[in-house]
Amino acid sequence: MNAEMKSEVKVFWFRRDLRLEDNVALSKALKGEQAVLPIFIFDQDIVDELPKDDARITFIYQCLKKLNQSLGNKGTSLSVYKGRPLEVLSQICLEFKVHSVYANRDYEPYAVDRDNGIKDFLQAQGIGFLTFKDQVIFEMDEVTKNDGKPYTIYTPFKNKWLAHFKEEMILERTTDQSNYVPSSSAFPSMEELGFSPSTITVRDFDLGSLDHYSQNRDIPAKDATSYLGPHLRFGTLSIRTIIRRLNGEHPVFLSELIWREFFMQILHHFPKVVHENFHRKYDGISWRNDEAEFASWCQGDTGYPMVDAGMRQLNQTGYMHNRVRMVTASFLCKHLLIDWRWGEAYFAGRLLDYELSSNNGNWQWAAGTGCDAAPYFRVFNPTSQLERFDKKMEYVKRWVPELLTQNYRKPMVDHKMARDRALKVYKEGISKMQA
Ligand code: FAD
Repeated sequence: MNAEMKSEVKVFWFRRDLRLEDNVALSKALKGEQAVLPIFIFDQDIVDELPKDDARITFIYQCLKKLNQSLGNKGTSLSVYKGRPLEVLSQICLEFKVHSVYANRDYEPYAVDRDNGIKDFLQAQGIGFLTFKDQVIFEMDEVTKNDGKPYTIYTPFKNKWLAHFKEEMILERTTDQSNYVPSSSAFPSMEELGFSPSTITVRDFDLGSLDHYSQNRDIPAKDATSYLGPHLRFGTLSIRTIIRRLNGEHPVFLSELIWREFFMQILHHFPKVVHENFHRKYDGISWRNDEAEFASWCQGDTGYPMVDAGMRQLNQTGYMHNRVRMVTASFLCKHLLIDWRWGEAYFAGRLLDYELSSNNGNWQWAAGTGCDAAPYFRVFNPTSQLERFDKKMEYVKRWVPELLTQNYRKPMVDHKMARDRALKVYKEGISKMQA
């Protein structure tokens, strides 16, 4: 049967929204007469850069499998492809009579470029590419200063965010229509897709912990955070569903979700941050970038228990507690004077919740180079952080079993020497730029 004789379909392209529930673009696609063809594309340009057993790929694969099962109950199936999105979509357009392609917006620079190319390609064939806001409450230009310029300081951004927020923004988008293209295509195995399973798994999220979130979130041993990171990253739960469940309570937790949107709009308005310091005045810092010291930091072998515990937790589980992320990041940039971009890239390769905007924003915060960063002269003391946030050493002992034995190494740098050195190098770097 040639494309002319077939009935028109709408393609729904899952990306960072791996769920059927409360999915804006999917609910829009399901309205109207054309049946919906659900697809997912493992983007070759992204996955080829990752190890075959990357834990994020395994998680995505498992989510797709679940989606396929749920779609099976609706008489359809998920078509899973691996390739370049433009090439895959052009192939789909040959096989089906495509009316339009629906997707939720992705704001990372690579995704924006990719989507612009796809839009042009589809439009040239008279096919619509309809994208929707789904992964945030407010996108790019929706929370700005009164003069329309972007906020670069978090607190006024948060205040404006809260002032603009209305309950109808979190109404559920129902996707219970069953207007799908009938199909029962076989679901590919990981091997067929060229992947192998990771031993690292994504934990389920826990919104039950929120009652004590504000008191306990800074204590790594209490494990009292939501573990929502990867679920927000891959959209297995919608941001609206999460905020509905807060029921107007838990303002401290909501503030964290607003940090996420703050950094997303920073990346959108200042894409140079991907490679550069937000503030140019730090461009003159002479990073030491000692490779052997970097390797010790990566392995969790610095002789500072909180740093070592955090890095080992990251290496073994793909997760690190936020307080410990701050301590490890500060240690790398200030104590070792290693460029924040090295640490950022290391985290990016391992964090299950890796998000370009949050990772970059928080690394620049720790290095002092960011938009609303910790002042450069604030150098976390990893030992006092331990005394303050893990007094009984429960967290560090969990990850550094040799801690109280002879086998634990001596600190790789003396705190006072490293602090003084960091202040000197930062000061010199700033004066260089002012000269
Ligand atoms: P919770 O405390 O339960 O927070 C809930 C959600 O709020 C998080 O999932 C996240 O979406 C958001 N959130 C919380 N804190 C922040 C924050 N400081 N900035 C932005 N959003 C936040 N977060 C990422 O999502 N991806 C990253 O790649 C990332 N890299 C980081 C790198 C460094 C150096 C630091 C200091 C922090 C980084 N964070 C990152 C922020 C934070 O550490 C994680 O969001 C949090 O630890 C994830 O665990 P959770 O979901 O249990 O957090």
